[in-house]
Amino acid sequence: MTIPDVITIQELANRMAERGVEIIKYLMKDGAMHKITDVIDSDTAQLIAEEFGHTVRRVSEADVEEGFIGEKDNEEDLVPRAPVVTIMGHVDHGKTSLLDAVRAANVVSQEAGGITQHIGAYQVTIPSGQKITFIDTPGHAAFTAMRARGAKVTDIVILVVAADDGVKPQTIEAINHAKAAEVPIIIAINKIDKPGADPQRVRTELLSHEIVVESMGGDTLEIEVSALKRTNLDALLEAVVLQAEVLELKANPDRPADGVVVEAKLERGRGPVGTALVQRGTLRLGDIIVAGSAWGRVRALINDVGEHTKEAGPSVPVEVLGFDTAPEAGDQFAVVENEARAREITEYRERERRKTLAVAGQRGSLEQMMNQLKEDGIKEFPLVIKGDVQGSVEAINAALSQLGDDEVRARLVHVGVGGITESDISLASTSGAVVLGFNVRANAQARAAAERDGVEVRYYAVIYDLVDDMRQAMSGLLSPTRRETFLGNAEILEVFNISKVGKVAGCRVTEGKVERGAHVRLIRDNVVIHEGELSTLKRFKDEVKEVVAGQECGMAFEGYQDMREGDVIECFQVEHVQRTL
Ligand code: GDP
Ligand code: MG
Repeated sequence: MTIPDVITIQELANRMAERGVEIIKYLMKDGAMHKITDVIDSDTAQLIAEEFGHTVRRVSEADVEEGFIGEKDNEEDLVPRAPVVTIMGHVDHGKTSLLDAVRAANVVSQEAGGITQHIGAYQVTIPSGQKITFIDTPGHAAFTAMRARGAKVTDIVILVVAADDGVKPQTIEAINHAKAAEVPIIIAINKIDKPGADPQRVRTELLSHEIVVESMGGDTLEIEVSALKRTNLDALLEAVVLQAEVLELKANPDRPADGVVVEAKLERGRGPVGTALVQRGTLRLGDIIVAGSAWGRVRALINDVGEHTKEAGPSVPVEVLGFDTAPEAGDQFAVVENEARAREITEYRERERRKTLAVAGQRGSLEQMMNQLKEDGIKEFPLVIKGDVQGSVEAINAALSQLGDDEVRARLVHVGVGGITESDISLASTSGAVVLGFNVRANAQARAAAERDGVEVRYYAVIYDLVDDMRQAMSGLLSPTRRETFLGNAEILEVFNISKVGKVAGCRVTEGKVERGAHVRLIRDNVVIHEGELSTLKRFKDEVKEVVAGQECGMAFEGYQDMREGDVIECFQVEHVQRTL
């Protein structure tokens, strides 16, 4: 019989096909009083089981993870796959321009041309028919964050160096990242159209970082390009294909899919959306997929030009709809046999996440943390941060990690994309963290949990404000700042189109009150999608000053029309508050 890390007496009895009372009697002989529902540890359970004549195999809870990423494939099942490329380089050297140029050139060459949408990765087909996949989330942090989670996504790094600027700190950083990941580099010497361009200088400067380019007798391919003028992009893509051939990239398309989530977000109306880059196998509609502690049945697959597809094979990026919560960029995903298995894995991961963070700590409020800082010099400000998109979350992350000094630092307990959930609150509660929401809101369960556990949740709409507050808190002083007071929430029951007036939302105030002249935000799926003012607040036919909880009213926004049934309107006041300590 198998025994897990912890087991109830009842369950142990079941597994031994004994009556629970026999175990309780046995334990009583040792002087321990137990109820049938009590949990005992695996050592005790093993003792009992052996005493009752069973052979025991200990299994750990962590065994749940076993087989999540399937076996290695047989060599004969492998077929060539497209290389996956990440573009890195110093700020303003042209990463975004190059990604856009490569993509635009390719989209135009496809006759459809039409819709291009940002899904975090895209694939291009070069004239020779070969395909190349680009990860469209430039940034060293993203690259390394993915690596840190054990995901090896990138096959080749294109390092962009501006010919008029040469090797700069982030160029060197990128070289180090790529080297650490043992990923080959191709140098794109960009901006050769510029008058001050000096490609030769780039080549020489690279030498001192142990990059010897081909034209200087080395083996690193270098191509002179202009992202702006779209010069020589074909040659760059050819170089990628050449490099890929050396790497002999292969995968088995004929197995359940696994791969990496390269981008994830919570989208208005669509719910959690993850961009999956398939690494092996083929991902299909209806598959049960697990990524991090999110799972779902694949409801829709949308490719990089916005078309619905039925499947995605190796090196193909697709948007996946159907997750229960947003996964995180860098999460490994895999298709599992069934829902039960998906739940088993995600529940286990969720428990682990809580356990590792269940460090002793005081519950969080920024003021408490400040006071502790003053009184007994705490060293850390634990924070849980949720934001609307990966980009803003990364920016906040980067800004906060530069705050503080040797004495005090921000400790980011958890950083993620999406609305604030109950599990964020429990994380914050166990680690004494304050929860910061950037353009996102806590859902109803999370708000209840925050109230119950005394966890402070702060909302921000401007990164600077967030960072500034943290800086001030860390220096022990929150100065008088623009602060907002929550007035109330209303839910949109129906949207009416009224001629001359435009769209009016028929709402019910669900908590607090709504006031004319107050600021409002429109929230969809816990993400802020509009902020502004009310142009109308009506009860029946009359314009009113306020509407309280339980009542219905009509609201319209100043210069904004895209409200929908089910959206929440949050009403708040902005005032200047002097913080007292
Ligand atoms: P990133 O910070 O690396 O993503 O750089 P961007 O792609 O945002 O480019 C920074 C600036 O350089 C922008 O103003 C671009 O228009 C400009 N730029 C990018 N590529 C070229 C190029 O090939 N030639 C010229 N002249 N300008 C470029
Ligand atoms: Mg850029």
